[in-house]
Amino acid sequence: MGNTGLVYDPRYLDHDMGAGHPESPNRLRAIIQQLERSGTAARLVRIEPREAEDEWITQIHEPSYLAMLKSHAPVSGRVSLDSDTSMSSGSLTAAYLAAGGALAAVDAIMSKAVEHVFCAVRPPGHHAEAGHAMGFCLFNHVAIAARYVQKRYGLNRVLIVDWDVHHGNGTQHSFEEDPSVLFFSTHQFPHYPGSGRAMERGRGAGEWFTINVPMEAGQGDEEYRAVFQQSLVPAADAFKPEFVLISAGFDAHKEDPLASMGLTEEGYADLTGIVAGIARRHASGRILSSLEGGYHLTALATSVDRHIQSLLAV
Ligand SMILES: [Zn+2]
Repeated sequence: MGNTGLVYDPRYLDHDMGAGHPESPNRLRAIIQQLERSGTAARLVRIEPREAEDEWITQIHEPSYLAMLKSHAPVSGRVSLDSDTSMSSGSLTAAYLAAGGALAAVDAIMSKAVEHVFCAVRPPGHHAEAGHAMGFCLFNHVAIAARYVQKRYGLNRVLIVDWDVHHGNGTQHSFEEDPSVLFFSTHQFPHYPGSGRAMERGRGAGEWFTINVPMEAGQGDEEYRAVFQQSLVPAADAFKPEFVLISAGFDAHKEDPLASMGLTEEGYADLTGIVAGIARRHASGRILSSLEGGYHLTALATSVDRHIQSLLAV
């Protein structure tokens, strides 16, 4: 029963960057509680993550970065990787399971066990660069999944929609020169991490296959819907993706403490519907959505719930 899967593992809670850090295990606790309380969880097919194999992680990340993470992973306490990113004793396993959760989700979709999957994972991924951790992210799960779709399953064209409020710099850099991956990002601008100007549109053979839509602080459901309909839909319909990935951050919500946009739960449901329409027209409905940011616990949990309900309604 059901056409939507959920990737979750309690070991995602073992990545702990310290009391007071906004990217906390409580984010996933809030999401899972909400999905159970609303009855959504009972409608989802559970998909067990595995630890991603290094051969897939190194499609995106440098082997020397992987070796550094392994040699620095602490047995206790914390090791700093970036000004706002650190590893606790459970972090590396969580990161491997988060990347592997995306791979297991792709497997489930490609075997037709489900049409869509939401990955409730930590740490998030879209800021992670080829050679370094950044902005709470260790491995770029969505980018790794895009390459896995292409190399393991032989699909050619992959669309990545990144509606996290922060620009997905790591994802953009992974595919900047690659016309087989269309990267579309909406983000508050100017804001962290500073990239994502409209003029950043890909390079070489990849020119025009990166679409950045910087948004002014305060814009909300109506403006996002217009951008998705007027900018994403025509580009995606021309590109004809065979697989659709969502870097699903929920920090553009009006309650989010780390940004200043005005999206609501209904806005996220509407954006989901627009992306699902693209997937239905071109990609046999295939959507993998992976959690990125979202730091107001209640707004995050209810937004994820509406996002998944919207996938279930497709
Ligand atoms: Zn974010």
